[in-house]
Amino acid sequence: MASSSSSAAAHRRPKVAVIMGATGCGKSRLSIDLASHFPFEVINADKMQVYWGLDITTNKIPPAERHGVPHHLLSSFDPNDGEMTPSQFSFHGDAAISGVASRGKLPLLVGGSNSFIHALLADRFDPEAEASPELRYDCCILWVHVSPPVLKKGLPKRVNGMLRMGAFDELAGYYHLRQTDPGARAGLRKAIGVLEFDRYFEKYPPLRGDAWGQEDARERQNDPVREGAYQEALREIMKNADHLIKGQVEKIRQLSKSGWVLHRLDATQAVRLAMAPKEEGGGDDRSREVWEREVVGRSVEIVNQFLRE
Ligand code: ATP
Repeated sequence: MASSSSSAAAHRRPKVAVIMGATGCGKSRLSIDLASHFPFEVINADKMQVYWGLDITTNKIPPAERHGVPHHLLSSFDPNDGEMTPSQFSFHGDAAISGVASRGKLPLLVGGSNSFIHALLADRFDPEAEASPELRYDCCILWVHVSPPVLKKGLPKRVNGMLRMGAFDELAGYYHLRQTDPGARAGLRKAIGVLEFDRYFEKYPPLRGDAWGQEDARERQNDPVREGAYQEALREIMKNADHLIKGQVEKIRQLSKSGWVLHRLDATQAVRLAMAPKEEGGGDDRSREVWEREVVGRSVEIVNQFLRE
């Protein structure tokens, strides 16, 4: 009997925890919160964050916010090699999962791109067909849900914050590079912000130095037409990000309908409170309280249960 039970253990599928959700819902934050409760190592499943470059534009979690939690498949690939396919991601994801497990840690897949997650987890991956509920790993899938209109409302603050952090300089630098080498860093071409700002840069090319953002802001101050073109680029970014969010939520719903077991955590209230003024009961403290209770607390219970099974 001992040998049959040990062979059953050998054939048991490795355990993988997963955090899914639309862009801006707090997946990265939850991953770090959970890593303080469990021995997780994060495996990135965002198709733009797998490459090095455009760190701010693609919204990678900054190293200081990772609190020492190892991250895999994040900034790991050369964008000059072109776009990674879901099947290629699946290959790298398998290797990353084995690596984490071999160190006695638990893999936490976080993203992002539903096609990547689907390719890696589905037993038989067919990009054209509906997802089959059979998975190659023993998965606990957490879905951080935020109502799309609430995410949309937060977009102006988010996009302006990214620009303040240096997204404009990243995008200007990338545009500059492609003037001499049109195929440069092709893997990043579809990141939201690139196409939208290309239109602006065609009219107002970033010409000198590396502090393009400061220079550009000075120029815009005295030129309402230029400022109008800049604002148009921001509107396009927000429109496309809103579109991405709706598509991501729709795809997650489809996975759920096709039989994937998803644990839905509603972070809508936490995100709403973070945006609301203090006088109306909002603010960061109130938001954190709700986040801890509704999202982190519930996730910890769900993962504990999963690890006991
Ligand atoms: P699709 O099959 O539509 O590409 P997907 O699930 O594979 O869907 P998503 O993560 O939804 O991939 O990304 C779709 C598109 O959204 C990307 O090709 C890119 O244009 C944009 N995008 C996704 N993630 C980011 C990001 N982190 N930063 C900027 N743009 C992004």
